[in-house]
Amino acid sequence: MRRRTGQDLRRIVVAGGAGFVGGHLCQRLVQDGHDVICIDNFQTGRTCNIVHLQDEQNFTCISHDIIDPLPDLGPLDEIYNLACAASPKKYQVDPIHTFKTNVFGALNLLELALRHDATILQSSTSEVYGDPEISPQAEAYRGNVNTMGPRSCYDEGKRAVETLFYDFHHSRGARTRVARIFNTYGPGMCPADGRVISNFVTQALSGTPVTVYGDGSQTRSFCFISDLVDGLMALMAADDEEVTPYNLGNPGEFTITEVARHIIATLGSKSAIEYLDLPVDDPRQRRPDITKAMADLHWAPKVSLAEGLKKTVPYFAAHLGGPATRLLV
Ligand code: NAD
Ligand code: UDP
Repeated sequence: MRRRTGQDLRRIVVAGGAGFVGGHLCQRLVQDGHDVICIDNFQTGRTCNIVHLQDEQNFTCISHDIIDPLPDLGPLDEIYNLACAASPKKYQVDPIHTFKTNVFGALNLLELALRHDATILQSSTSEVYGDPEISPQAEAYRGNVNTMGPRSCYDEGKRAVETLFYDFHHSRGARTRVARIFNTYGPGMCPADGRVISNFVTQALSGTPVTVYGDGSQTRSFCFISDLVDGLMALMAADDEEVTPYNLGNPGEFTITEVARHIIATLGSKSAIEYLDLPVDDPRQRRPDITKAMADLHWAPKVSLAEGLKKTVPYFAAHLGGPATRLLV
C-alpha cells in the first residue's frame, strides 16, 4: 500500500478532541508537531483530557457543537471525527441529539473537508454490526441492528454516517476513511461514564459490588487506547483508494463475567459480583476480524487486556484517591 512519506506537518481538526479517544489522539498529534484544532461541545468531553495541551502553541480548542454550522478554521489537511458520546448510558440521555451529532455533525465536517480538500476520518463503531449472528465480525458482515430501540440512535446514526461517507466519496470526490472501532479502554476514561471497564475497576477499587448485567456470558473484545490511536493514524495515512471501512479492535474475546473475575482477582478486591438486568438490545457477542487492517494498514494491537488493565488501574486509583499501594497489578 502506498503511504505518505516524510514528516510533513499538517493542520488537523479533531472533532470530539476533549473526549477519551480524542484527548489521546490530540496528545499524539501535538507531540508529532502538527497544528491541532480540537472542536468539542464538552457533552462528555472533559478539560482534564486536554488541559496539559493548553500551553502548546500548536494546540487550539474551540467549544462548539458540530451539529451547528462550523466556524471558518482556515486551511486544513486532515479531520478526525470522534465527536459522539460512546457510552450507552451517556448517548441515551438525549438520543435525538446523538442522532443529530452523527448525521448533521458528519455532514458539516464532510463539507468542511471538501472545502479544504482535507482527508476526513470517521469514527464508526462495532455497533454497526448490532447483535451479530456471526463471530468474528469482518467488515463484509452487514449486521443485525434494531432500528427502533434505546441503542438505535447511536447504531443507526453511525450506519447513516458510513453511508454519507460513501456518497461524499463517490459523488463528490471527498477523501474519506471509516474506522469501525471496537470497545476501547485506558487511562483518561471518565470514571463515571458507565462503561464496563470503568465501572468494574472503580467498583473493585472501592470494594462495592461489581455489577454484571445479565448472566455475564455476553462477550466483548477490548482494545487498549494506544493501539487504537496507532490504528486511527495508520488509517488516516492510508491510500486514497482505501475508502471502505476498517475494523480496529483487539480480537481477544472475553465474557463479561471473566472480565469481572479478572479485575477482582488482580486487584485483590473484596467486591462481590452482583448480577443486574441486561440492558435492552445488549449485543451477545463481539469480536473483530482485523485481517483487513493487518494486511492493508500493517496494524495490529500490541497490548493484551491484562497488560492494558495494569496500565489503566493506577489512573482510576488516583482518581478515586485510594491507596495505589493496594494494587496487586
Ligand atoms: P467520549 O464520550 O469520551 O468522547 C466523545 C467526545 O465527543 C466528547 O468530548 C464529547 O463532548 C464530544 N461530542 C459529543 N457530541 C458532540 C457534538 N455534537 N459536538 C461536538 N462535540 C461533541 O467517547 P470516546 O470513547 O472518546 O469515543 C470517541 C469516538 O469513538 C466516538 O465517536 C465513538 O462513537 C467512537 N467509538 C468509541 C469506542 C470506545 O470504546 N471508546 C468504541 C466504538 C466507537
Ligand atoms: N456491562 C456490565 N456491567 C456494567 C457495565 C456494562 O455487565 O457495569 C456490560 C454491558 O451490558 C455490555 C458490556 O458490559 O454487555 C459492555 O458494555 P459497555 O457499556 O462498556 O459497552 P457496549 O455495550 O457499548 O459494548
